[in-house]
Amino acid sequence: MARFLTDGRIDLKSMTLDELQAELVALGHPRFRAKQVYKWVWQRGVSDFMDMSNIAKDARTQLAEHFSIDFLAPAMRLDSEDGTTKYVWQVADGHHIESVLIPDPGIEGHSKPRMTLCMSSQVGCAMACSFCLTGDLGLTRNLRPAEIINQALQVQASLPEGQRITNLVFMGMGEPLHNLSNLLRALGVLLDEDGLNFSHRKVTVSTVGLVPQMLKLASVTPVNLAVSLNATTEETRAQVMPITRRYGLEDLMRGCREFPLPHAKRITFEYVMMRGFNDTWDDAARLVKLMSGVKSKVNLIPYNENPQREILRPSDEHVKAFQHFLVSRGVQCSVRRTRGIDVSAACGQLGKATQGLRIEEANIEGPTVSLDDAPA
Ligand code: SF4
Repeated sequence: MARFLTDGRIDLKSMTLDELQAELVALGHPRFRAKQVYKWVWQRGVSDFMDMSNIAKDARTQLAEHFSIDFLAPAMRLDSEDGTTKYVWQVADGHHIESVLIPDPGIEGHSKPRMTLCMSSQVGCAMACSFCLTGDLGLTRNLRPAEIINQALQVQASLPEGQRITNLVFMGMGEPLHNLSNLLRALGVLLDEDGLNFSHRKVTVSTVGLVPQMLKLASVTPVNLAVSLNATTEETRAQVMPITRRYGLEDLMRGCREFPLPHAKRITFEYVMMRGFNDTWDDAARLVKLMSGVKSKVNLIPYNENPQREILRPSDEHVKAFQHFLVSRGVQCSVRRTRGIDVSAACGQLGKATQGLRIEEANIEGPTVSLDDAPA
């Protein structure tokens, strides 16, 4: 059993329900105690064992001696003009991670309203995709399960009554499948009806294409898979995504064809469109070919220009024409609307804008934690 410690105590929120049950039984508690504690922590969001009113006082005291209940320290909240909100959190070792909440009112008769939370899985990222500012940071460390789940728990707690997060996407800082075991633990709680109770249909994990980990993920949970593709030849993909040297485009597409998709699901292929690099008609034709034999949909993401890169965004007309080319050849294809660009919350912008942030700038509401209590 992987154990995460805080001040010598076990980080309760990084445990699975089964692990918690084994630990509590060993301490002399009845078997049902684990579910009681689990519900208090994940459904009621309590931060203090003393608030668990259906547990005897001496048992609560014992629990507090053995376990910690950790939260992320809110560091900053940035609200975009378009309704997107970026949450910056300080983790216990002083680093920052970010989550982005993206409300979408939906279109009558076409799509339902959604409230999507884009979550981080690592501090920084090792994948070094050349178009992504987070990649410049390099990898500092993996997030613990508790640090992953707390993003959803704490953002939900900060919303006005009646508003709920409807969808979770792992497209924030980090490559989620590079932190697979902690991600799986976190997904266990996020999908558990006694935990945060999200449907697997509403949870998407995005990857650069770590093929063995993709297949492992599918063997454990039926969440949605998104693959960050971004090029149509080995050579061009290797130019922007170094992972291509390890898992080539051919291996990746084979892995996608073998991916055991649940009924009615498709793999989403994200395609960041960069003018003159991957947006030619030859690219479009190759993309159609790559999608053949895969239950897929393509999500075109016009590049978000920024001063740190010389990469250009194609015109809206060109993006539309590219989409039309794919759709007319039988490929399901949508264009992602840019959101949160004024607060550096758009795709590929996370992390850089908040480097060097100071904790005194904290101004968001919701559960807080003393840094002295946070995991070492
Ligand atoms: S695009 Fe994703 S995987 Fe690539 S560097 Fe950025 S955060 Fe990492």
